[in-house]
Amino acid sequence: MMTKKPKPVIGVLTSGGDSPGMNAAVRGVVRTALERDIDVYIIYEGYQGMIDGGDRILKADWDSVGGILQKGGTSIGTARCADFKTHEGRRIAARNLIEHRINHLVVIGGDGSLTGANVFQKEWLSLLVELVDLGEITNDVAQMYAEFKFVGLVGSIDNDMFGTDMTIGADTALHRIVEAIDAITSTAASHQRAFVIEVMGRHCGYLALMSALATGAAWVLIPESPPNVDDWEAKMCEVLKMGRDAGRRTGIVIVAEGAQDREGRSIHANYVKEVLEKQLKIDTRVTILGHVQRGGAPSAFDRNLGTVLGYAAVEHLLTSEADTEAVIVGIQGNQVTYMPLTDSVQETKRVAKVIKARDYEKALELRGGGFQAAFRTFRTIIRSFPHPPQPDHKPKRFAVMNAGGPAPGMNTAVRAAVRLGIDKGHTMLGVQNGFTGLIEGEIEELNWMSVHGMVAQGGAELGTNRKVPQGGELYAIARNIERFNIDGLMIIGGWAGYETAHLLHSEQENYPAFNIPILCIPASINNNLPGSELSIGSDTAVNNIIEAVDKIKQSAVASRRCFVVEVMGRHCGYLALTSGIATGAERIYTHEEGVTLRDLQTDLGDLLEGFNHGKRLALIVRNERANSFYTTPFMTALFDEESHDLFDVRQAILGHLQQGGNPSPFDRIQATKFATRGIEYLIEQVNQISPHSAFIGLHHGKLTVFELERFPYMIDRKHQRPKEQWWLEREKIASVMSQSGPHSRRGKKRQS
Ligand code: ADP
Repeated sequence: MMTKKPKPVIGVLTSGGDSPGMNAAVRGVVRTALERDIDVYIIYEGYQGMIDGGDRILKADWDSVGGILQKGGTSIGTARCADFKTHEGRRIAARNLIEHRINHLVVIGGDGSLTGANVFQKEWLSLLVELVDLGEITNDVAQMYAEFKFVGLVGSIDNDMFGTDMTIGADTALHRIVEAIDAITSTAASHQRAFVIEVMGRHCGYLALMSALATGAAWVLIPESPPNVDDWEAKMCEVLKMGRDAGRRTGIVIVAEGAQDREGRSIHANYVKEVLEKQLKIDTRVTILGHVQRGGAPSAFDRNLGTVLGYAAVEHLLTSEADTEAVIVGIQGNQVTYMPLTDSVQETKRVAKVIKARDYEKALELRGGGFQAAFRTFRTIIRSFPHPPQPDHKPKRFAVMNAGGPAPGMNTAVRAAVRLGIDKGHTMLGVQNGFTGLIEGEIEELNWMSVHGMVAQGGAELGTNRKVPQGGELYAIARNIERFNIDGLMIIGGWAGYETAHLLHSEQENYPAFNIPILCIPASINNNLPGSELSIGSDTAVNNIIEAVDKIKQSAVASRRCFVVEVMGRHCGYLALTSGIATGAERIYTHEEGVTLRDLQTDLGDLLEGFNHGKRLALIVRNERANSFYTTPFMTALFDEESHDLFDVRQAILGHLQQGGNPSPFDRIQATKFATRGIEYLIEQVNQISPHSAFIGLHHGKLTVFELERFPYMIDRKHQRPKEQWWLEREKIASVMSQSGPHSRRGKKRQS
């Protein structure tokens, strides 16, 4: 007789070290399951809760995961559980899952927890046999639960696991580290002190390397690549000394927890301090960042990563074949990826083994090309002086400029471009004030130290504006290109930069001076540039928005209130959608989706229903140009009038705070990577008879170069945005997560 197939029932738990963004993942799993009408249980306190059973395994409803998105740590508790490492413990856990009819499990944790999940999954069938033998379940039940599905999501600040480019929590940890280093840099500079900063990462130098790249650190020690000289201490001191001689007032050394030398001896921060004090005779302090790195509100990236992966985990569980093996659901670029859990666990362990065996070349190779390139770039940028030029070297003159609205990270990109260009023996010129400066000849040579300190500065030191030159101004630009002998031009900017680059390139026949390579690097908070999934500045802007919205939401605890928050973006809804998902907005209005009167009526109905059922707070995020008639004041007035005193409605137009502030770690890292590739491109092209021009970007997470001629074909010119916008597919996730729930009018409309 065939046994009846049980309905899917999902269990979700967080385990091991907590990490910011785990809450978003739990919320993502629970709400996606509920939206699909699937029962979902929260297993509290990790594997321990699974073994304890009872009220540690509770059925979740929509509100069980309300209000946790912006919280650090994990609201459902986590634990290290020795019992789960025993066979008996896992057998009890299996029985408790079956008791709750759970046949799908999502484990959110680090490599230890996922190794545990892998062991559990591998012995699942034998656990069922044992439970039958012990008389705890019947044969029929055992058969019903033979098909048990597992998914792992990597929640870890270390970013040390295979199967995903980013683990949930790593970006937030970078925020904490970079904030701390920025703060330390200012005090260190005041006293001319050196600081040794220890960051987490036992077998993985990701946090150390990326925070070094994102700050003005002078030296970094990571487990995968110990200094390759015998007397590395002397070399490190020489680099710091040269920095001082060149005018740097700080000396910051970042040490990963698991740093070691070539012989495998661990390098501790205190040892580095002793070396600096002894050899350089400078006052040196040690800061061990410790648990600060794990704490605090999750960054926008981690909230969205958790949400997207939680959603994808449920989709995978519900759509994959019954006999599919357990997978890690991860991310590469903006694409969700699936890797067998066993492979992920094995590969992750391999790096630790390779490091232990002191095969550092292999360790770096296993980390992948991006990591290695970042390490190379870091080693060049931190130098106090450029490398001496090659004997047959032909120096060129490259100009760097900004264009478009200001975007945090523009300075970081300028700094990297200038240093990398000079390091290759070229002269680097800075154009002030965007194209106005190029027209008026505001152009000066930049040297190695003139970009010192720019890595962390918001705004645009060179100045920027939205000017697009026309008519006779092109002639002035051509003259200045000749007068300053500019051999190549790098434009780090937004729409005005791209449009003008394309204009100059297509006017080559009329102006021979324009026959130089031009390279655009995407920098705009709006993220509205073709060829790149992300532009420099947009991550900072989204983080600025979520910080403001978190505060706005907190201000309303005592009343029934709805906020209509207006964010920038011009005609591009990226900021609205991304920050809306990261703040748990009920409704997000974008120009792409459009706003109709009917939408407003439906949404009003949902608000009334929500507040009637005890809702205290509602959030609507709106792009500034979502609809030119139904403006923010209009929507606010409409909802307020129709609320009939059930709730009140306030508008918050966030304005320029979105463009300000120091760039986020991600924007700094991205700016440095783009500038590195940009300089390489200009150097490649400058010696060609007919040099090409291009814009670069991230395509499926990889640095990609697009010929400038493609610009007009890739854009919606009227609305100044790319024709293809990858993030639009996240609208459906936003709509699933929105707090109106599946039974709201919009939810019902979606389901029908
Ligand atoms: P993280 O998941 O953050 O790496 P740990 O390494 O402490 O944290 O692992 C968390 C929990 O996962 C452990 O306390 C244990 O319950 C479980 N676990 C880890 N390794 C195994 C294993 N080899 N077999 C079974 N369970 C394990």
